[in-house]
Amino acid sequence: MKKIQMVDLKGQYEGIKSEVNESLQEVLETTAFINGPQVQSFQKELEDYLDVKHVIPCANGTDALQIAMMGLGLKPGDEVITADFTFAATVEVIALLQLTPVLVDVDPHTFNIDPEAIKKAITPNTKAIVPVHLFGQTGNMDAIMEIAREHNLYVIEDNAQAIGANYHSKSGKTQKAGTIGDVAATSFFPSKNLGCYGDGGAIYTNDDKLTHTIRGIVNHGMYERYHHDVVGVNSRLDSFQAAVLRAKLPKLDQYNKARQKSAEKYTEAFQGNEDVETPVLDGEFDTHVYHQYTLKIKNGKRDALAKHLQEKGIPFGIYYPIPLHSQKAYADERYKEADFPVTNQLVKEVLSLPMHTELDEEQIEYIAETIKNFLNS
Ligand SMILES: *Cc1c(COP(=O)(O)O)cnc(C)c1O
Repeated sequence: MKKIQMVDLKGQYEGIKSEVNESLQEVLETTAFINGPQVQSFQKELEDYLDVKHVIPCANGTDALQIAMMGLGLKPGDEVITADFTFAATVEVIALLQLTPVLVDVDPHTFNIDPEAIKKAITPNTKAIVPVHLFGQTGNMDAIMEIAREHNLYVIEDNAQAIGANYHSKSGKTQKAGTIGDVAATSFFPSKNLGCYGDGGAIYTNDDKLTHTIRGIVNHGMYERYHHDVVGVNSRLDSFQAAVLRAKLPKLDQYNKARQKSAEKYTEAFQGNEDVETPVLDGEFDTHVYHQYTLKIKNGKRDALAKHLQEKGIPFGIYYPIPLHSQKAYADERYKEADFPVTNQLVKEVLSLPMHTELDEEQIEYIAETIKNFLNS
């Protein structure tokens, strides 16, 4: 059996070596290392793939979130509602911009932000909602967009984990995750579903005016050379990263299918096990692209299982071990433990299994058998 890894970037590279090498060689030949033709081409190709009007590449996913919020003109004191159960980047940029993060609880089965909790958190100062499509599954965008319209709020999708996932709205429309709200942020961190070989990110939107604003913000607030109209940042996708992404984008659907197939096999293997809740789909098969395959281990057995996996040399992840409202940096006296029953329970139960494009059946079987044997013993 191949050695089991949480992600296998080397194995994936072996399969696309010639495309990636050629694409990188092109950058060396043009020596346009910043804003080269590869960046322009990638932007266009991603716009086509997502069926979105504008993609603005930038340096990483965290910047993408920050720049999206700056572009919308959010001001200190504006309240931004987001999920208590997510990676810290989401709330970090809200706090950095001196906006007020308002953390709310999530759905116990999909791990995504709970629309009912959003409704309860809205005040006259609320300006935006940031749903995070966690672990690769699109959030309940129908409900979120309805709340946003009713209260005149912006929706900023954190799509760092769900690029390529579809969303089927009640109206019958199918859209890519990240193209439903006002603006979205994504990350090309190497382990993400569409990862480059360093840092990278992008903002996308269908809004022409917002795109113009954002293109200036990513470039020191310049709309005309050496005229700085707004305070901006320096956030660029470099040409080498764009070259890698150009080689990998045509494979994204195939990569996501491989993840979905592995997820199916895991789920099948855990059928009927009373200690395990497998990922719950909110809607159809293609709304989840399994950035992570995350189980809930019930009956207080998670930590013992984690220890056992460690001993067996099977990699796993605990995403995320501490609710954001309990983190020192984001603690706030407004938060009451009673407002976060789901997140407080999830941090004790979640366990993410190896998930990547190169996982094979033998590995999945071995991982699942090891877990079942331990839980049944
Ligand atoms: C990875 C990630 C980010 C940040 O992306 P970086 O490129 O690492 O800055 C933001 N939000 C979520 C949910 C993520 O998973």
